[in-house]
Amino acid sequence: MSSLNYRLRAKESVDNAPALHEVPNRKAIAVAPAVRALTPYIAVTSQAAIEARPNGETSFKLDWNESTIAPSPRVSEAIQAHLASHRDLNWYPQLGSKDLVDALQSYTGLSSEHILATNGSDDALQLICNTYLSEGDKVVAPVPTYNHFLVFAESRGAAITRVCAESAFQSNIEGIRDAMSLDTRILYLVSPNNPTGVVLDPQDVEALCQDYPETLIILDEAYFEFSQVTGMDLVREYPNLIVTRTFSKAFGLASLRVGYLAADPQIIEGLSRIYNPKSVNALGQVAAVAALSDLDYLNDFLAEVRASKELLREFFASRNVDAQITPANFVVVRVDDLPGTLRALEERGVYVRDRSGYPGLRDCLRMSVGTVKQTEKLLERLAQVF
Ligand SMILES: *Cc1c(COP(=O)(O)O)cnc(C)c1O
Repeated sequence: MSSLNYRLRAKESVDNAPALHEVPNRKAIAVAPAVRALTPYIAVTSQAAIEARPNGETSFKLDWNESTIAPSPRVSEAIQAHLASHRDLNWYPQLGSKDLVDALQSYTGLSSEHILATNGSDDALQLICNTYLSEGDKVVAPVPTYNHFLVFAESRGAAITRVCAESAFQSNIEGIRDAMSLDTRILYLVSPNNPTGVVLDPQDVEALCQDYPETLIILDEAYFEFSQVTGMDLVREYPNLIVTRTFSKAFGLASLRVGYLAADPQIIEGLSRIYNPKSVNALGQVAAVAALSDLDYLNDFLAEVRASKELLREFFASRNVDAQITPANFVVVRVDDLPGTLRALEERGVYVRDRSGYPGLRDCLRMSVGTVKQTEKLLERLAQVF
């Protein structure tokens, strides 16, 4: 049979095949038991709504805590140089992101054997769960927290204890200690926390590392650059601590998916059993190295965000609005009529995140913070709503 003939026949048989839903007894393959209780993640993003707005109209995408400006110009230069070089896109990326890991040594103050580059820090969190969690393992997480970690832990069949504080906007070390036991497998901490901005004192983290040597403590520092408070130095001393970070927030590389983790070399060895050395794409690696080479650009943006937060603080205070100006690049605002406020903001091209479903965050929205220029424009619109 000629190949054309074959293709025609194959097409006929597809055309004649009954539609999926008409096949009797067609049963979906069951997902793994640990995944059964999970519901599909419905991502809510303003991207499509913003693209649908009239051309040339200014809108504010403040719903995902991304940087509101392009990364350092060195990033696009480096990507273009990479594309122009002999390293065509058909080749796999540099394995283990070696150049990036080398560049991260001076940024973190740690040597390369402590560092693993990952496909965003989500990938780091998932890798940790896959490597260290078995069915029934105990996990403790103060909530509200970053939900993806909880999904990764749950998908391993872990038993998660969520610790609620009286106020979502205060560190709750006592509550965490009450929930811990000597056989707690993982404690997940986020500092500054998303979505509350609560920063943990590194001394408290250190005390937990000392008191729970059998527990793997994850310190998620996705927003470290904004707070400048870190537990990174503790990694050298405590073999039960992993710090995760990302290029998606302060460095402005969210679309390229680059993150990393830092830990004792014994943990790196454990993770390396599952770690995929080609998990960070080539352009992401090149971009992250370029971003690290331009810390002046990073620091300028951090200063902009700080100044913008002061403008927002004054604005909300002057209107008696209950707003938490966090040490990260977002603010959390509690309003009387959340659906009405969200609608009024969207009508004005301002897209924020509804966080009212989170424990302790009733009637709350979260809004990212950008540059002073952007914030001045934003305030004109906020003034029509608040
Ligand atoms: C945004 C965020 C992440 C994920 O970052 P990626 O590197 O883009 O995967 C992880 N943790 C927290 C707390 C975050 O807010």
